[in-house]
Amino acid sequence: MARTALITGGTRGIGASIAKALKAAGHTVVTVDIVDEQLASFESETGIRGFKMDVSDFDSVQSAVAQIEEAVAPIDILVNNAGITRDGFMHKMDPGKQWDAVIKVNLTSVFNTCRVIAPGMRDRGFGRIVNISSMNGQRGQFGQSNYSAAKAGMIGFTKAIAQELANKGITANCVAPGFIMTEMTAAMPAEILDAEVKKIPMGRIGQPDDIASMTTFLVSEEAGWVTGQVMSVNGGQLMP
Ligand code: NAP
Repeated sequence: MARTALITGGTRGIGASIAKALKAAGHTVVTVDIVDEQLASFESETGIRGFKMDVSDFDSVQSAVAQIEEAVAPIDILVNNAGITRDGFMHKMDPGKQWDAVIKVNLTSVFNTCRVIAPGMRDRGFGRIVNISSMNGQRGQFGQSNYSAAKAGMIGFTKAIAQELANKGITANCVAPGFIMTEMTAAMPAEILDAEVKKIPMGRIGQPDDIASMTTFLVSEEAGWVTGQVMSVNGGQLMP
């Protein structure tokens, strides 16, 4: 059945791949991002409508969701994909620019979108929420105490809301990607990335489509009995 899906940070990397896959599955898809030009170029390339939203700001989320639901349709599928990294040793970490920024964009954002969108899903008796966490939230990662904390927090949040929303036909799950080739990983020092890829049993880095296919399943009607789970998609690098 065709549904309406919102993908945060959906104009590049993993989010863009998810947006295209959900469109190909027959859903009406909208993306949100903070950069106007990126929304416009993604829309002209794919036909997927884009709206401006800063996921870390509750008021921005509220007004963008109202605009989307008015212009398109009520949101049935929410994919929280927007994320940033601001790596550094914990003992040198800037409380604002590194800690607060990463917690707000990667974790508070998930509360913001769910808080605004879930009431409508509850009223309509259907919803699919997929939160893109990370292998580094499952295992912790050197130099990423902020990111690991945010991504682990996302898992706890998802399990809690999965329990609260289950009796209204709403599922909430996490996908925890391993290393995926995007601008985020391209920004890593080459020797660190090469060393990580050598640890992947499947022998290759992941592609955004590896995450999109898992997400497409989780938002489907057929996945209606899967909730509160963390789907590890990492080429076998971590088997939690
Ligand atoms: P990416 O290429 O850096 O894309 C991130 C997206 O998030 C961009 O579209 C970005 O928008 C958007 N964004 C950032 N801050 C935002 C905000 N305040 N409001 C709205 N949108 C915002 O990242 P990616 O590699 O595709 O990663 C996507 C997700 O997967 C992230 O949550 C990441 O943590 C997670 N993940 C990635 C990997 C990996 O190896 N790549 C592994 C595990 C988990 P702009 O374009 O405007 O900056």
